[in-house]
Amino acid sequence: MLRFISSPKSKSSKSALCNSVAVHVPPFYPPSDASPRTQSRARNLHSCLDSLYSTRTSVLSRRREGFFSAAFERIRPRIAEFGRNGIGLWRCLGPASGVKSFCTETVSRESLNYDVVIVGAGPAGLSAAIRLKQLCKEKDVDLSVCVVEKGAEVGAHILSGNVFEPRALNELLPNWKQEEAPIHVPVSSDKFMLLSKSRAFSLPSPFNNKGNYVISLSQLVRWLGLKAEELGVEIYPGFAAHEILYDTDGKVIGIATNDMGVAKDGSKKDNFQPGVELKGRVTLLGEGCRGSLSETVIKKFNLREKGEGQHQTYALGIKEVWEVNTDKHQPGSVLHTLGWPLDPKTYGGSFLYHMKDRQVAIGFVVALNYHNPFLNPYEEFQRFKNHPAIRPLLEGGTVLEYGARTLNEGGYQSIPYPVFPGGAIIGCSAGFLNVPKIKGSHTAMKSGMLAAESVFRTLHEGSPLEDLWDALRKSWIWEELYNARNYRPAFEYGLYGGLVLSALEHYIMRGKSPWTLKHGKPDHEATDEARFWQPIDYPKPDGVVSFDVPTSLYRSNTNHDHDQPSHLRLRDSEIPEQVNLPVYAAPESRYCPARVYEYIADENGHQKLQINAQNCLHCKACDIKDPKQNIKWTVPEGGGGPAYTLIFVLTRIHN
Ligand SMILES: Cc1cc2nc3c(=O)[nH]c(=O)nc-3n(C[C@H](O)[C@H](O)[C@H](O)COP(=O)(O)OP(=O)(O)OC[C@H]3O[C@@H](n4cnc5c(N)ncnc54)[C@H](O)[C@@H]3O)c2cc1C
Ligand code: SF4
Repeated sequence: MLRFISSPKSKSSKSALCNSVAVHVPPFYPPSDASPRTQSRARNLHSCLDSLYSTRTSVLSRRREGFFSAAFERIRPRIAEFGRNGIGLWRCLGPASGVKSFCTETVSRESLNYDVVIVGAGPAGLSAAIRLKQLCKEKDVDLSVCVVEKGAEVGAHILSGNVFEPRALNELLPNWKQEEAPIHVPVSSDKFMLLSKSRAFSLPSPFNNKGNYVISLSQLVRWLGLKAEELGVEIYPGFAAHEILYDTDGKVIGIATNDMGVAKDGSKKDNFQPGVELKGRVTLLGEGCRGSLSETVIKKFNLREKGEGQHQTYALGIKEVWEVNTDKHQPGSVLHTLGWPLDPKTYGGSFLYHMKDRQVAIGFVVALNYHNPFLNPYEEFQRFKNHPAIRPLLEGGTVLEYGARTLNEGGYQSIPYPVFPGGAIIGCSAGFLNVPKIKGSHTAMKSGMLAAESVFRTLHEGSPLEDLWDALRKSWIWEELYNARNYRPAFEYGLYGGLVLSALEHYIMRGKSPWTLKHGKPDHEATDEARFWQPIDYPKPDGVVSFDVPTSLYRSNTNHDHDQPSHLRLRDSEIPEQVNLPVYAAPESRYCPARVYEYIADENGHQKLQINAQNCLHCKACDIKDPKQNIKWTVPEGGGGPAYTLIFVLTRIHN
């Protein structure tokens, strides 16, 4: 098994790093009894990491120069501490070690070979990695597995505050309690309410959260990363998979990370480093909802048609973590609402979970097939917090964190065929979220585990990877999603029609009705022209429970290097001014929860779209909702984006 041990010289190398211009990774020494293959892999990995590291240190040191430098400085000492205990090689040299590096050499694109390359260190990707290594151990086989993660740390791009169903974790790591998984707060009450503007009506809760836990998913993912690493998985946080690699027959043979140190104008900066090719005998894509590479592969191999799936449908979830007064905190209490402030034709609602340490995750989900282009999901969330049933809980509290992410709502009807030549799609990239439960962590984990078992059989026994499709259909994921299939499309009939139909499905038919409802139009086609609607007059933030976007954005600790090509690409640069603004009244300036898209008058008074890409929260709503599908979300330089885990965990430690 691969196990790399830092050289005794590494400490002095580390201090030398602080003063030197070029940065080098100390050599690794595999165990003396390692096989020649392992020895050679160690040399190969070292040479590649050496060039990668010099890029990473410069990228992460630039984070401190950005818009949120003060916040980053505040948490820096803690990051170093996490570094000592944290995941992966990078942490021992650390983004926070104070190193500045400028690499003046141009290095050609290097290539590393693995048995399995996994994109995304989320619940799906890490469960797949862990399961693969468990099988290796059971059968005494050595398969090399790496996971590449675009967040600066494992968990940094995972929104915390989650009601977690432990079914998949019980199967994957049955001793999770003894192994101190960060799962401590059982659900203690489970309420469901329909809101009018000033009242709240209790409904029977359809969620059935008995036996579930209120957790921080980013912390759980961090713990899963540690477990994966203990088993020998190599995790590379801070690297974004940018490109799919194909062989001459069109089979996927891995991914390439993006070039670093490229300026806005496309020129190479002093610290330019080409991307790295990570080649795998099998590639698993676990990028989460609307993964950029996953979408490419779904289209290229017609996986939706092959799986006889409908289009995927989505919602945007916007969330805050609050610290509330002790007398208001009820650990394990869970509340979901429907209704106000959304109009009855727009599907969505809120969730409010009491975690531990006086923390409450509160969020609002808006289905992206809304019609009114003037609707602003961020403002709907701010309005919601003023409801008389909600505001008293928040008053006197403090917001610790802000974030946003889309989630899949297509369920059973929208699952693509998950296998492509050379790999498979797992987790929310394939859309395994259970909508009526608003839970996808357990299904993402289970799909990763099933994929790992199929991959292991493929690599070890030569069976076809396509067996994964059958394994999925025989699993409890399929049963869950099948039984829940009519819940979301029922709300095509509006809030009240949806409530009646979904209650019928849930309580009487119990998912066994002989029909399967279809989804309506794809989300981008659902937006009406602005002439059919009136602008919505949202109240100004009061700074007590509601806030403006820049204030919230600060709490997400988001940052990207300003001087890099925009990762938000317009397929046609004319469409914003010729279509989006005149026909749809610039919906991107409202659905984006980070105010990345702004129309600003030029010197002639013409409104021009300005894209503030450095504020992007990686939620992917623009990739989904743009009426003409003109915005393409691609990965920015690795390490950029939100830093949910850090700000969340560290603020708690500070307090
Ligand atoms: C607002 C909201 C509330 C939710 N509440 C719950 C809940 O209460 N309970 C529940 O069970 N589920 C909940 N979910 C769903 C749950 O978060 C997802 O189902 C789950 O996280 C999916 O896991 P995943 O591994 O497929 O993807 P993700 O968790 O999204 O992880 C994907 C990882 O891949 C990385 N990545 C993506 N693209 C690349 C790339 N190209 N290169 C490198 N890295 C990449 C990302 O940074 C991320 O770390 C909620 C989701 C949202 C948005
Ligand atoms: S630019 Fe797109 S992906 Fe980024 S925060 Fe805005 S809507 Fe989300």
